[in-house]
Amino acid sequence: MPAFSIITRPMISIYDQQGLEALRSRTAVQPHRFKLFRNAFFKKGLGKEGALAVLPGAARSVFGREVGFQCLELSGRRDSETDGATKLGFQTLDGHLIESVILRVKTGRTALCISSQVGCVCKCGFCATGQLGFSRNLTYGEILDQVAQANRLLRAEGRTVRNVVLMGMGEPFQNLENVFQSLEVLQDATCFNLAGMRLMVSTVGIPDAMVQCAERFPCVQLALSLHSARQQVREKLMPLARKYNLDALHEAMAVIGRSRKVMVEYLMLEGVNDGDEDFQALENYLRDIPVHINIIPFNEFEGCGLKGTPHLARKAFADRLKDAGFNVTLRYSLGSDIAAACGQLVRRRMREGFA
Ligand code: SAH
Repeated sequence: MPAFSIITRPMISIYDQQGLEALRSRTAVQPHRFKLFRNAFFKKGLGKEGALAVLPGAARSVFGREVGFQCLELSGRRDSETDGATKLGFQTLDGHLIESVILRVKTGRTALCISSQVGCVCKCGFCATGQLGFSRNLTYGEILDQVAQANRLLRAEGRTVRNVVLMGMGEPFQNLENVFQSLEVLQDATCFNLAGMRLMVSTVGIPDAMVQCAERFPCVQLALSLHSARQQVREKLMPLARKYNLDALHEAMAVIGRSRKVMVEYLMLEGVNDGDEDFQALENYLRDIPVHINIIPFNEFEGCGLKGTPHLARKAFADRLKDAGFNVTLRYSLGSDIAAACGQLVRRRMREGFA
């Protein structure tokens, strides 16, 4: 036995509610002070120093030592010159790059698109993240730190993140536990306090996980990246479609559709999924499900070998869907000049030797 044993406690994440509560109790911080502390960090976006400043002296140093306030380092920023998008590059403690996108929507609201994994295993043919390969899942702290850091940056503009979409790098439902834990903290009134309807999870389409998410989070929105209602075409674009076929997805959507509309993402690719047959298949497939269809322009990137459907043809496709009675949004592309599509910034930075 050594004469002295140095007890090093593992860091408690600022997003770990139980761990923080235990620390509060151990340091005898009054509940109202603790509330001020959380308010300073989450609502006012004051960061570590600002949050610690509201604690009594003795507790301040313990919290400063034992609480991990940040697990990502902001490593790059690109502001669009054509619209209100800002792409943020973050580095994890073990040196991986991930990205988030701030979207300043015309209505004055601010949305944030965040990543759930480093890379992705899905390898969808149109997605730059798939070409990076897969490294690892993000922890819930890393998922949430993207929101906290974006809020701190946005403070200077008098904005805060109002909507969070899990539409960045990765497949959220292949990182289920961390994503679910993040959704809890995003909704928690003492933390980010975002109503479920302001949160959206976008998936390549994993039926069981979609239903599980819908059951656990009755108000959180779900988006399905459908991109084709023809099994063969979808399989060509998205290899995972072989495992989770259109019939299984349809069943899952029918269940989810009982409590909310399902967002359906439809990326339009010239000569691939924009023809008459594609329209008919889509109309049939979605006819009996409450959906909102987003028609998305393709963000091209070097080496992908695909071309986006021109704007007029996209509009015509969207109008036909509207005429058939669907809710449709013809999405314009935010941030195409800053490589805002999934994985594009990280890909570019890797090629440029960015660290
Ligand atoms: N894995 C999840 C979330 C990440 S992708 C999913 O598949 O939904 C987020 C959205 O961006 C998806 O709808 C995806 O199909 C779309 N996307 C990926 N690459 C794109 C590109 N190059 N241009 C436009 N949209 C793209």
